[in-house]
Amino acid sequence: MEKNISYICVECGKKISLKSNKWKCDCGGLLNLEYEKIAIDFNSLTLLNNNSLWKYIDSMPFDKNDCWNEITMGEGNTPLISIDKNLYAKSDYYMPTLSFKDRGAVVLVSMAKKLGVRSVVADSSGNAGTAIAAYGARAGIDCNIFVPASTSNKKIKQIEAHGATIHKVPGTREDTAKAAINMVENSNLFYASHIYNPLFWEGTKTYFYEVFEHFKGVMPDVFIIPVGNGTLLMGAYIAFKEMLSWGLIHKMPKILAVQAENCSPIVKAFNKGSYIVEQCENIGTLAEGIAIAAPARGSEILKAIRETNGDIIGVSEENIATARSTLASKGLYVEITTGANYAGYLTYLQKYPDLKEKTVVLPLCGAGIKSS
Ligand SMILES: *Cc1c(COP(=O)(O)O)cnc(C)c1O
Ligand SMILES: [Zn+2]
Repeated sequence: MEKNISYICVECGKKISLKSNKWKCDCGGLLNLEYEKIAIDFNSLTLLNNNSLWKYIDSMPFDKNDCWNEITMGEGNTPLISIDKNLYAKSDYYMPTLSFKDRGAVVLVSMAKKLGVRSVVADSSGNAGTAIAAYGARAGIDCNIFVPASTSNKKIKQIEAHGATIHKVPGTREDTAKAAINMVENSNLFYASHIYNPLFWEGTKTYFYEVFEHFKGVMPDVFIIPVGNGTLLMGAYIAFKEMLSWGLIHKMPKILAVQAENCSPIVKAFNKGSYIVEQCENIGTLAEGIAIAAPARGSEILKAIRETNGDIIGVSEENIATARSTLASKGLYVEITTGANYAGYLTYLQKYPDLKEKTVVLPLCGAGIKSS
């Protein structure tokens, strides 16, 4: 039986068909996803001969025999590596395009394929664009990828290698988003946005299923999560809510979120006790992958952090660079943006000394060779 899936407007609650190519409600509200999920039976997963995130198909917006079978590259099932006392690094840079964005991209592109889409538009600071371009190539879908002109040359080459049309936009990350949306509005093409399209989170949520499975049915106390547009964080929130409703956990693990101090709009809003996020000034950061001055999902991100009794802090440029080197000295070569995650953990240790006694999972989001 086909799952009945639709977008739902977060403002007015209107249901919108996936076939509509809409990325926003007519009322201006952003879209979430609604469909009936079957609780995952973690005890029977080992019976499945599928070592990718698709083993969780029961709670994903697809059916077992859908087109994802032709598109998957075995993404998911990344290792948890012990790095400090009680600290585990989940190494999502082992993914096909070397970042965790493959989790979301494979779901989003598979759905585009299923809907008969021929051509998509996406904008990104690099890794999401790469992931969409790679999966787009597998699906035979033309990709228009908008990136800031300042994006690392290595990421641009990676996108171009997959045959995507690249649009380099001078100015800020926000200017890049505007240019992409402009093309979407003028062409009515499918907007394969990791920010606006909630299908993306249906992939990122599997990161948390995998951790739960790794720890044999127990969630760690804390997840460190970097936040630019919040796609990993929203995946966490969705996974936690599902697991609560299935009775697999009895409280949400804590989200300790991290931004670059030099571009930290959500930190500012959180500290003010605000429910909305105002655009900040990006005064320049090494962490290009999380340098989002005006996150579209700001309110939802704040809500998720607060609901887990979590926190969000900014980390300094110096600490980002040092943390990246420290990880490399432990054998883990990550992109500079990912240095922020470990820097965040170390800063939280000072803020909350008892964190040392808690089980913490830290994501290694992108591979070292992606940075210059
Ligand atoms: C995308 C990305 C992030 C941040 O993810 P958001 O979804 O923007 O919050 C962090 N690190 C790396 C390497 C990324 O590619
Ligand atoms: Zn609406």
